[in-house]
Amino acid sequence: MAQTPASTGSEAHPADPPVARPTLKPRWWRDAVFYEIFVRSFADSDGDGIGDFKGLTAKLDYLNDGDPTTDTDLGITGIWLMPIHPSPSYHGYDVTDYTGVNPQYGTLADFDAFIAAANARGIKVIIDFVMNHSGRDHPWFTSARKGPESKHRDWYTWRADDPGWTQPWGSGPVWHRAGKDYYYGLFWGGMPDLNLANPEVEAEMIRSMRFWLDRGVAGFRVDAARHFFESADGKLSDQPASHDLVKRVRKALEESHPGVMLIGEIWTDVETVATYAGDDDEFHMAFGFTTAGSLRESANDGLKASFNQVQPRLKKAYADRNFEAPFLANHDMKRVMRTLREDPGAMRVASAALFAQAGSPFIYYGEELGMLGGPSGQDEDKRTPMPWTIGGDHRGFTTGTPWRSRPEKPGVDVESQRGKAGSLWTLFRDLIRVRASHKALSDGEVAPVRITGKHRGLTGLIRTHGDEKVLFLVNFHGEKTTPFTVKISEEAEVIFAEGLMGQPTQAKGELSFAGLKGRGFAFVKLR
Ligand code: CA
Repeated sequence: MAQTPASTGSEAHPADPPVARPTLKPRWWRDAVFYEIFVRSFADSDGDGIGDFKGLTAKLDYLNDGDPTTDTDLGITGIWLMPIHPSPSYHGYDVTDYTGVNPQYGTLADFDAFIAAANARGIKVIIDFVMNHSGRDHPWFTSARKGPESKHRDWYTWRADDPGWTQPWGSGPVWHRAGKDYYYGLFWGGMPDLNLANPEVEAEMIRSMRFWLDRGVAGFRVDAARHFFESADGKLSDQPASHDLVKRVRKALEESHPGVMLIGEIWTDVETVATYAGDDDEFHMAFGFTTAGSLRESANDGLKASFNQVQPRLKKAYADRNFEAPFLANHDMKRVMRTLREDPGAMRVASAALFAQAGSPFIYYGEELGMLGGPSGQDEDKRTPMPWTIGGDHRGFTTGTPWRSRPEKPGVDVESQRGKAGSLWTLFRDLIRVRASHKALSDGEVAPVRITGKHRGLTGLIRTHGDEKVLFLVNFHGEKTTPFTVKISEEAEVIFAEGLMGQPTQAKGELSFAGLKGRGFAFVKLR
């Protein structure tokens, strides 16, 4: 591991890549399972109450120890780090240096060591990249707000009056006063939007992304991508120029770093999300917000309706279903276990249904334990410290005072659940392994399944890749089903199931099932 100086500012970074870059096979993400991590809340190595790179590196064996013969690790193969850059906020989405690391998280050398350790275990790392806006305290904006003569003035968007535009999702203002002019900042005044129409800004963003790719990062989760550009008459989302920018960035990065992956945060309906695939020349993946909502809703109300209504929309919207990355919740949402009212059965069927979806799934840290986070609606309560141990003042997260304290209930910790039969952790581990060992699940086509009879909670999917075919059945409802049949002519082999009543039998082009217990599911290989 080469040593490099710690980050000190935009102009002071070493130019030489310090670590060997991982070999990125084309479309490496297609059979990956990702794990989203808020560094501040994952593991604290030095007792200051703030999670850091060294703490995270020490916990990598928990995520994937690099040895396929062990079963004490989750087995994820991708990590998404929420922003790691210097920032005045706890969350980091208001970046003040795109090629530095937050000193609270460690040094650039600590980050390099983390990347090397992750890559050694077969884990690819993507990082959050916030190119829609910088922080208000970024030197570019500090300079720009001084006046029209600043060389960074045109790195942001200014006008002499406030046209009164408001945020698309609410009523907040988007033009903010600085001196006698107004600057555009969609999220709030502390996050001035970068003027991505300025070629200098675009070039700087690409240069910054290459800086991280040179350090062994495998791609980026691109924040707020539907808001890159706004129209002159106040349309603030999904402008053609945003699509064009994504195309140019992807092309530039693929030329210098083949195999790079860009996943977009396009927080809207699936039909709009799908447009960001372009002609396979925009994002490589985008998050499935509509799908996530349907999984939570069906798990919550016990009914198949929400799940079933979304599937045809997905089929219609996506040329390639694996473009969409499914998930249950992320750092902007209540913890899924809280949404599911702490019902462990609901959590189990939601998790199973997640891993049956097309696309590379994303797990939010602690989801595998059923973390609840805090009770308030504040974002901090969605991003609370990870509980590692049964005992200890802070469940093994820190020896000091945690930056945020929202104790989880007994049993919601790694020590209680890791490898224990019947735990949510063990279910996640097993689902990850089932998916990893079946290409039909990780990168297959999706087809609906015809089930006889009326069952409020029973539904499923068929996933196919080449000769491999896997049937997924799930009973979202708490009551067991009556016997049912599925119109399938193949023989069945149960791979992994909970609550399956007996083995399916084949006769006359139909698979007969004795039933699925309440909150049961089954993965069945067909041959
Ligand atoms: Ca620390």
